[in-house]
Amino acid sequence: MDKHIIIIGSGLGGLTCGYILAKNGYRVTILEKNAQLGGCLQSFVRRGVKFETGMHYIGSMEEGQLLHRFFQYLNLLSDVKLHSLDRNAYDIISIGGERFPFANGTENFIEHLAKYFPAEKSNLCRYWQIIQEATESSPLHSLKTTNEPIIFNPAYVKQSYDSFLDSITDNEQLRLVLAGNLPLYAGERGKTPMYISAFVNDFYNRSAYRIVGGSETIVQSLVRSIRAMGGEVRQSAEVSKINCDDRQAISVSLKNDEMIEGDYFISNVHPARMVEMVKGNLLRKSYRDRIVNLNNTISNFTVYIAFKKESLPYLNSNLYHYETPADVWRGKSYSTETYPSNFLYMHLCSSVNQQFADAAVLITYMNFEDVMQWAGTKVGQRGAEYEEFKRKKAEKLLDILERQMPGTRKNIAYYYTSSPLTYLDYTGTECGSMYGVLRDCNESIHSLVSQRTRIPNLFQTGQNVNSHGILGVIIGSILTSGELLGINSIVEQIKNVD
Ligand SMILES: Cc1cc2nc3c(=O)[nH]c(=O)nc-3n(C[C@H](O)[C@H](O)[C@H](O)COP(=O)(O)OP(=O)(O)OC[C@H]3O[C@@H](n4cnc5c(N)ncnc54)[C@H](O)[C@@H]3O)c2cc1C
Repeated sequence: MDKHIIIIGSGLGGLTCGYILAKNGYRVTILEKNAQLGGCLQSFVRRGVKFETGMHYIGSMEEGQLLHRFFQYLNLLSDVKLHSLDRNAYDIISIGGERFPFANGTENFIEHLAKYFPAEKSNLCRYWQIIQEATESSPLHSLKTTNEPIIFNPAYVKQSYDSFLDSITDNEQLRLVLAGNLPLYAGERGKTPMYISAFVNDFYNRSAYRIVGGSETIVQSLVRSIRAMGGEVRQSAEVSKINCDDRQAISVSLKNDEMIEGDYFISNVHPARMVEMVKGNLLRKSYRDRIVNLNNTISNFTVYIAFKKESLPYLNSNLYHYETPADVWRGKSYSTETYPSNFLYMHLCSSVNQQFADAAVLITYMNFEDVMQWAGTKVGQRGAEYEEFKRKKAEKLLDILERQMPGTRKNIAYYYTSSPLTYLDYTGTECGSMYGVLRDCNESIHSLVSQRTRIPNLFQTGQNVNSHGILGVIIGSILTSGELLGINSIVEQIKNVD
């Protein structure tokens, strides 16, 4: 076969497509703008401590579960070591001082939450029944061969998650608890479709794990496999143009003016960046306008904490905290006076038998507008005012953490911070958006990004196609690679891998 595929970007989507296509005999070249591969999967090391930037825990990794099957197909199982989160509290939802655990397995989940909401047991059963129906309505979530891979029941696509919760129970506190892990998908009231929450909740409820040594182990393994199959993966190779003739794409130009020809092209970058790169008239103005005007999920501010050696016991749960019940759905519309009013706190896992925490991330939402005045500056050169802005936000966030987890502060050795500008620079995602394009149940077709573009040999992949997160991106990569191989052929390969 030996057709040449050029993939722009080495995020999880680019690498997964690269793996699938190389395995099926295509010649693959992956071009990454950064010195480090992996996009959101990259880690950084400071003073000997490793920090993960954008993938902290994964689900459905027990034998036979969906991600485990994908990992088996992608030859990741022997390279990626996992540490199970607390099965009775993989997530802890803390709202205005009260705490509620999310336990693995639907029955276990219901038993645990019913202790706080004894009258709500049957509603919780109905909640899980509908969540699982929604997940199973997606053929690729159940590895079914199909000609309509992303057909969902309109009830799951056109209904927002909050209105779904309203239909489940009148108990306002339970509705907030069931929305407590919203930062996992930057859910917005009245917009985020029910199916996005269903996929995420089902995925982690089945089993939840941290990746020992961080998600870069996934990158290292995929890159090694792609290279072993004859593929090329290049760092510091920023694509500036996708060149077209009057029918299709023919080559890409790099920032250093090098030109590389290909037969097919896959963009793993944000769609707005992709349309900027496409030269020529093949993309109509209406298509470009639609893509550029898509709404995006919010960005974040993160404090990367290093702890003093063997001082703080390892926390085997993720803590989602909201200062008040009103903060659960506040999202983008926080006020500067009360900011920050929520966080997600996670210890990072560096060994299989972790006893003490080495490092943690403390993440809160942040709008790009908050750092707009420094837009255009470079990492490490944004100036003293920016550093002071970040220090103040970090100190406030650490104060809230200390109130929730007393004794944490005294064990902190040092910390670093990142803002929406950091994400913009490291991944090129629009305004540093965490999960790319915002899916909106009111504009269910309009807010969907297809793996196809108007150019017949140019495709898209990554979190903007299908959905974000490890599962959403891998399924998106199957959709994209399926344009060349046929989706059913990939599904069969996954089902038959030994
Ligand atoms: C803070 C945070 C926490 C998260 N936590 C989790 C989690 O716990 N579990 C989970 O499953 N998911 C999590 N996610 C989501 C997950 O990390 C992402 O959905 C996924 O990694 C996105 O992959 P992607 O392929 O879309 O591309 P990206 O990771 O965005 O990669 C795109 C790549 O393209 C490169 N690029 C851009 N422009 C160019 C160019 N012109 N030329 C060449 N290369 C270019 C970029 O440098 C980048 O490497 C998290 C995300 C964030 C931000």
